[in-house]
Amino acid sequence: MSRPDLNAAIAARDLAVLWHPCTQMKDHEQLPMVPIRRGEGVWLEDFDGRRYLDAISSWWVNLFGHANPRINAAVREQLEQLEHVILAGFTHGPALELAERLVALAPPGLGRVFYADNGSSAVEVALKMSFHYWRNCGRPRKTKFVTLANSYHGETLGALAVGDVALYKETYAPLLMEVLTAPSPDCHACEPGESWEAHSRRVFADMEALLAARADEVCAVIVEPLVQCAGAMRMYHPVYLSLLRDACDRHGVHLIADEIAVGFGRTGTLFACEQAGVTPDFLCLSKGLTGGYLPLSAVVTRESVYQAFYDDYATLRAFLHSHSYTGNALACRAALATLDIFAQDRVIEANAALARAMAEAAAPLADHPHVGEVRQTGMILAIEMVADRAKRTPYPWQERRGLRVYRHALARGALLRPLGNVVYFMPPYVITPEQIRWLAGVAAEGIDLATRD
Ligand code: PMP
Repeated sequence: MSRPDLNAAIAARDLAVLWHPCTQMKDHEQLPMVPIRRGEGVWLEDFDGRRYLDAISSWWVNLFGHANPRINAAVREQLEQLEHVILAGFTHGPALELAERLVALAPPGLGRVFYADNGSSAVEVALKMSFHYWRNCGRPRKTKFVTLANSYHGETLGALAVGDVALYKETYAPLLMEVLTAPSPDCHACEPGESWEAHSRRVFADMEALLAARADEVCAVIVEPLVQCAGAMRMYHPVYLSLLRDACDRHGVHLIADEIAVGFGRTGTLFACEQAGVTPDFLCLSKGLTGGYLPLSAVVTRESVYQAFYDDYATLRAFLHSHSYTGNALACRAALATLDIFAQDRVIEANAALARAMAEAAAPLADHPHVGEVRQTGMILAIEMVADRAKRTPYPWQERRGLRVYRHALARGALLRPLGNVVYFMPPYVITPEQIRWLAGVAAEGIDLATRD
């Protein structure tokens, strides 16, 4: 079989048996499935030998490229020692070392690590731990969570309940717990002439009022610090997090920072919370934690939370929550190799230059007649396509303009996967300034095509 035949044959076999995530499978009657044979650095290669630059880090997980030699070597070595062991009653070197290093890197005051095996599970853990903490402390009336409009925290029922993206949530509404929702500090909604900081401060007043009125019933506020990624990469000012930390303290409510997407350097600092100088009560990590290699997540919390569960067995105060692959040894080892790269290559410092290259490359798009905003926080850059630039009128979602950009990018050899009308770059950190410029060109062509009629 020639290679193009191989591509098509694999796609056909796939479509006969697989059901893909977050996909209307009928789309594939028109949209080709892309079978990937190998990856190297920022590139993915199909069976036809065609290459695609992975501009979205394969759903925001990959940090240092595909098949990274250093992470490969670490996982390979671990494979010869121990692939996995139950983490209840047993422990192992990589889980222990990773916990020590996460505690050292996390904002000050977080001293305990609870592992799970994907982002949604970490969110479930944080929600349950917060609720259970208050119960153990004799506050059983605290049963509610406060969330931000336009937030996203995963797809399992608890995580979906505290999210607010209608496309994913609405259908399942009858299954979901009720939450209290405060307006998003999203600075796309700034008044003309209003700074991001002023806007985020102004919007905070609603959160303050909500907490003042309902804190007695509230376990925690959950937020995605600085960037609401699945909510179309909407961004806000760190001052919101500082104000929120202070309000949570005053009102006796936990703060859960879901850094599953924004952690590990995406916003320009290792953790987004650093930019506000705040320590959450629960820090949820996943995705980039293993460099994009293996599923793993961690909830890092305070010793005082841990102590509220620490008692004789018969008091039944323990946190009896588990996932089979909790603290998987291979995943922990990939995470350790990832943290080594951060330290050895001074990645956060190096990324500042890449972030500048992204800003420069995308700057001309700000003048495009159908671009409403180009916004950026660190290594995340988003371009919002609009029907009417002056009024910032969105395109109707039914027109699927983003899909046109996706198709164009694929044809040009780039994996861009817009969120609705928002084209964004969230690349692996091994991308070069030259590749960034090329990518911005592909995005510009795609946006031209997608907004032509
Ligand atoms: N929280 C945030 C902020 C996310 O972006 C995501 C995934 N996109 C999740 C939670 C859920 O993680 P997972 O897909 O690993 O369950």
